[in-house]
Amino acid sequence: MAGSGNRVTVGNVEIISLSDGILEFDLCNFFPNHKSDDEWQPYMQHLTPEHKVRFNLASYLVRSQGRTLLVDTGMGARPADAPETPWGELMQDFQAHGLSPADVDMVVMTHLHRDHVGWNLTPQAEDGADATAFAPTFPRARYWLSVKDWAACHDPEVMPSRFPNAATTVWPLEQLGLIEFMDGEHSLTDELTAIPTPGHTPGHMSIRINSQGQQAIILGDAIHNQAQVQETHWVSRADMDPEQTRITRRSLMEQLEQEGMLGIIGHFPYPGFGKVVRLEGRRYWQAL
Ligand SMILES: [Zn+2]
Repeated sequence: MAGSGNRVTVGNVEIISLSDGILEFDLCNFFPNHKSDDEWQPYMQHLTPEHKVRFNLASYLVRSQGRTLLVDTGMGARPADAPETPWGELMQDFQAHGLSPADVDMVVMTHLHRDHVGWNLTPQAEDGADATAFAPTFPRARYWLSVKDWAACHDPEVMPSRFPNAATTVWPLEQLGLIEFMDGEHSLTDELTAIPTPGHTPGHMSIRINSQGQQAIILGDAIHNQAQVQETHWVSRADMDPEQTRITRRSLMEQLEQEGMLGIIGHFPYPGFGKVVRLEGRRYWQAL
């Protein structure tokens, strides 16, 4: 494994960390059951000075065996009525790194929450185009997503609260004929395997990288804040199945620690590369 800046290699696989910007939440909003200063005392450095949780909105560009994947697509374009939102920067970040959306031939979604699907599609507002028409933002790509999340984002019980932008960022992919469904463990290339890591959403997936004897894992939203490396039972408002989330997170953190594997975590501080280490009986995130 070798890395510098926003780029890391794992065997023959190259991973570039791109960002759509940031999201911030008040503690009482995001961790309603873990919002006291006492609980956060050992982890204050992982909050903003205003005691908020701050999330980088990473998209990972992964090159493997001639394929170029993009894992997750951020929040999407800034809303016209809120031009100052701190997200919507992914296309500029592509450009800043000399990349083009046309480089991507596989878009892979860890799950279908709004901050992971935002740039999937571009509305077609030109003259004569149907106002409801969409084109893929990544014109050469097909789009991989989990069947379980596909079902969940159509469930009227949870769609409005959990998948509020699915109708414009996910559903039209079906009509465009661009979806590749993942049902359980799913091989993406010989070096990349999507594995079910449920809880945060029913179909949440992580991406295992295995090349030349080196391993890494892109964890999606199995974890949101560095404090949860130790406090794996701290469930957030965004975790749809609290108990399953705890089981999944605990097992992933144990695996990362025991195998010394590189972790790649989209909502941790940019670029999100690091390892789980144990010091005096507690687990820590050690950024690369
Ligand atoms: Zn997220």
